[in-house]
Amino acid sequence: MPRIPRAVKRPWWPLWLAGLPLAAAAQAPATANPDEFARCLAGIQADAQREGVSKATFERALDGVRPELSLLELLDNQPEFRTPIWDYLASLVDEERVQDGRAMLAQWAGPLAEIERRFGVDSATVVAVWGVESNFGRNLGRRQIIPSVATLACHGRRQSFFRGELVAALKIVQRGDVAPEQMLGSWAGAFGQTQFMPSTYLRLAVDFDGDGRRDLVNNVPDALASTANFLDKGGWRTGQPWGFEVRLPEGFDAAGTGRRNKATLAEWQSRGVRRLDGSALANGRVPSEGVALLLPAGPKGPAFVVYRNFDVVFGYNAAESYALAITHLADRLRGGGPFNTPWPTDDAGLSRAERRELQTLLLARGHAIGEADGVLGTVSRAAIRAEQQRLGWAPDGRAGQKLLARLRSGG
Ligand code: CA
Repeated sequence: MPRIPRAVKRPWWPLWLAGLPLAAAAQAPATANPDEFARCLAGIQADAQREGVSKATFERALDGVRPELSLLELLDNQPEFRTPIWDYLASLVDEERVQDGRAMLAQWAGPLAEIERRFGVDSATVVAVWGVESNFGRNLGRRQIIPSVATLACHGRRQSFFRGELVAALKIVQRGDVAPEQMLGSWAGAFGQTQFMPSTYLRLAVDFDGDGRRDLVNNVPDALASTANFLDKGGWRTGQPWGFEVRLPEGFDAAGTGRRNKATLAEWQSRGVRRLDGSALANGRVPSEGVALLLPAGPKGPAFVVYRNFDVVFGYNAAESYALAITHLADRLRGGGPFNTPWPTDDAGLSRAERRELQTLLLARGHAIGEADGVLGTVSRAAIRAEQQRLGWAPDGRAGQKLLARLRSGG
């Protein structure tokens, strides 16, 4: 089993948390002390004021805000369900997202071409990030981030981190980029079409349409340009690929593989690694930097030679499965097909359409799982476990093609 980033069970929600060193257990008081919270906020206000945040901005954003202590559980919660990489990619890079992404490439072709000229990042990659982060602006999150970040700035073990994020959020409000009530996102503070944390937003957001506001909530060109700026500043190599799928020789020894182990194309070539068509790895421009051989599910699954640009995408979210979702979706948007080598499983993952179908079948069987929204959360997983138990299968709460086929057949 490959290492699975801890936040992948909720795609495009608190994904960025995969890169955040989390503490073990929060020292959460059972109930909030309102005086203590007010004192904490007053301290932050003094800091924010020194950094140019006015009293009016502070009050506009934080008046009447109460601590949301339930967040502390989320901060420390370990997912009860580990997502295999094939499930993660099956829902993030499905036919629906490829079609939607191609429509977005056409709809925003003008700004995307200009963004590509200005930042040197190709349109397919920029749109792929947008599609994974917020489903092209459709899933921005439902939670006001300022109360969340204020809570985490005053409670729990990541206070200094979230204090910085709160001050950054206040600066965004002060600049007039986005109104506080429009800062909707994940509980952990990422918001907008690109799901930037406030500090990232302050550093890298771009006013692309030139209206004076860097609006990554309502303005698509601003959001796309900001994504390109993030990748550009992260060291994107214009014109270089992210990598490509390769073929391994029979009995390949996985020693020395992994994203951090760089070697030359010639070295991988000498170990028997070839392009899918059997041709030499270095059949075009040879990168000046080392490249890595990525085996996300071990030597029996798909294998990839990855260049510097893969690391740049990894920098957006610090998870290899995330970076592979973005880069693969970008390839699909350019007309590429699914991976050549199947994942090493006999029970492949479900697309979002298949997840909705599965949920509809669960509803028809009397499981009160709410709306068939394609998101397999705790309630859906419980229903899946119940069905697995009924069938005499291991009740692991995971749904793949086998369970879907079984429920379709009425079994
Ligand atoms: Ca703007």
